[in-house]
Amino acid sequence: MSYIIGSKCVSCIDGSCLKVCPVDCINGPVDIKGMGKELKTMTKDDIIGKQLYINPDVCIDCGACLPECPVDAIMPTEEWAIKDGELEYVHKNYEFYGQTYKPRKK
Ligand code: SF4
Repeated sequence: MSYIIGSKCVSCIDGSCLKVCPVDCINGPVDIKGMGKELKTMTKDDIIGKQLYINPDVCIDCGACLPECPVDAIMPTEEWAIKDGELEYVHKNYEFYGQTYKPRKK
């Protein structure tokens, strides 16, 4: 289980979440280990269509990032995201780290 960053982050990338994650598992928009550092070199045009991602292997589900996002782009579980119509972003989060999302068996 992992927190998921959804469609509201796309072309926004406020980045407040990056400052509070205790395990530095929020990455992107390009560098999978970058923790948003490349944002400082990007223009508003550069971030169009881009977003941040949460590494599902590292996220400890602490919830610290959730209240920091000003556009409510972060969701606490994959299932939550899917219920919100954001399955595409569940896949995007996993694929950013070279993984494939597999739903948990019930
Ligand atoms: Fe980082 Fe905690 Fe948010 Fe996971 S839930 S991305 S560990 S701040």
